Amino acid sequence: MGIDSVRTIGVVGAGQMGGGIAQAAVMADFSVVLHDSEKRALVAALEAIDKGLQRLVEKGGMAQADKGTAIRQVRTTTELKDLAACDFVVEAVSERLPLKMQIFEALDAGCRPEVVLATNTSSLSITRIAAATRRPERVVGMHFMNPVPVMKLIEVVPGQATSRATTDDTVALALRMGKTPVLSQDLPGFISNRVLMPMINEAIFALYEGLGTRDDIDTVMTLGMRHPMGPLALADFIGLDTCLSILEILQEGFGDPKYRPCPLLRRLVDAGHLGRKSGRGFYDYSQGAPR
Ligand code: NAD
Repeated sequence: MGIDSVRTIGVVGAGQMGGGIAQAAVMADFSVVLHDSEKRALVAALEAIDKGLQRLVEKGGMAQADKGTAIRQVRTTTELKDLAACDFVVEAVSERLPLKMQIFEALDAGCRPEVVLATNTSSLSITRIAAATRRPERVVGMHFMNPVPVMKLIEVVPGQATSRATTDDTVALALRMGKTPVLSQDLPGFISNRVLMPMINEAIFALYEGLGTRDDIDTVMTLGMRHPMGPLALADFIGLDTCLSILEILQEGFGDPKYRPCPLLRRLVDAGHLGRKSGRGFYDYSQGAPR
């Protein structure tokens, strides 16, 4: 259909990523229909978008009046069928394949046949998600980074059946949102997690084997390699359960033991020490600042 005719973007799932995608879309002058099955997720997402735009106003990046206009461009709904009029849809529900397949089947039934259905999955196969629809050529991976309004990168991931036109439309949309798209093949982890997760896992092995202390390992990577955050602090930020599940997907997908998750990572997840979100991971966040 060509990206120039896209006016309204549907976003499915109003969590951390969906809210961020909605904000980035209105900042690029699109209208948004934001859907979540939970009303409270929609309320929280609208609050987060309001705060995000207010910060932009305070920094001089947006006029106060434009902020009001932008917020009014977001319509929220708990009914998936309200996405029927959308010109492009990005799905960002929880990372579970059966759930995503069910959502894609419903979107396929409800949206016009030419509409691109994109998924923000970080680790699931685009090809398998596309197989839940009768338009696999219009299904694509559109992997935003967290926090979406700040991070420039989008991995665009064509599945086995994705058409060239769909990939081109998705790249064009990413550019219109002020992002930098890169193309990745539909293989486990795409480019980002294929490179990042083994590094994080190796840092955890280094800690596990006593190669260095937590702080020394993170300091080597921040001061020695100019990473803005050490790998152990980054693992806490992403969530240790998420890191474990992505490593398992890499190990299973490639059948290669080089991706085996460090036993220490598994032990921390078993203990419920999931990083920032649980108040404790490699660092302790119970007093606010990491210790
Ligand atoms: P989240 O838990 O913050 O949000 C998920 C949302 O999906 C929740 O609001 C939940 O209510 C909603 N949801 C669940 N079932 C639903 C249904 N049947 N219908 C509609 N909504 C439903 O998760 P998140 O961190 O925003 O991640 C969402 C997606 O983005 C996942 O696929 C994840 O892998 C991917 N992703 C996450 C990150 C990250 O750093 N958090 C980065 C890139 C990609």
